[in-house]
Amino acid sequence: MIDTERLPFITFAHNILPTDETICIKENEFEQLMRILIVEDEKGISGFLKDGLEEEGFAVDFTADGRKGLELALSNDYDLLIFDWMLPGLSGIEICREFRKLNKTAPVIFLTARDTVQDVVFGLEAGANDYIKKPFEFDELLARIRVQLKTRTGEQSILTLCDIEMNLDTHRVFRGSKELELTPKEFSLLEFLIRNKGKVCTRTNIIEHVWDIHFGSDTSVIDVYINFLRKKLNPTGKQKELIHTIRGVGYITRDE
Ligand code: CA
Repeated sequence: MIDTERLPFITFAHNILPTDETICIKENEFEQLMRILIVEDEKGISGFLKDGLEEEGFAVDFTADGRKGLELALSNDYDLLIFDWMLPGLSGIEICREFRKLNKTAPVIFLTARDTVQDVVFGLEAGANDYIKKPFEFDELLARIRVQLKTRTGEQSILTLCDIEMNLDTHRVFRGSKELELTPKEFSLLEFLIRNKGKVCTRTNIIEHVWDIHFGSDTSVIDVYINFLRKKLNPTGKQKELIHTIRGVGYITRDE
């Protein structure tokens, strides 16, 4: 049976970032959606990278040829691209230049045995975001890939909604100049609503992302927590209401 209420997850997946153990489980799902292209002519390296990255949950394409690499890079929507520098057909630098000329913004990491300052500058000027020197440890490359993907998905440490400011690093929340005391669950719920502001968050989305319980569970706990949150955001009832109910569907927050 197709459960259409689960479909909005696709929309939200890129907006979810881990704040606690519950959401870390979602981070893995988010990474599974990431596609990486490897253009590398040393079979040992490309095989080792493909296997390692697939084990980490990425979808990986690879080719050993520069021209084929450019063709793949332009005809698919990769989240990140890894180019060796010296390649048959086109060099990694040439692929990167052509790719950027067409206003493609996905991050590019170079693999290179060249590491003089001039080489690095040359690579970065061609549009690379980072480079890693051969020989390298897989874990280091993986860490650099994660940094690039997080930057691209726009990880922010401050989220705002009207006069609310949430700091995800310090877990402090202010409404105007007043600090609010939220429980971890209230914090996660508010974070989810603000990350998705302007969009209706269905009860199914909320229960799956904030509570990590699957569809079919009793969602009345959400209404209880929304009430807790509303009271904390607006204890006197005199301030603007920030969480709006969409009857029979869920909740929405808006900046205006
Ligand atoms: Ca090479």
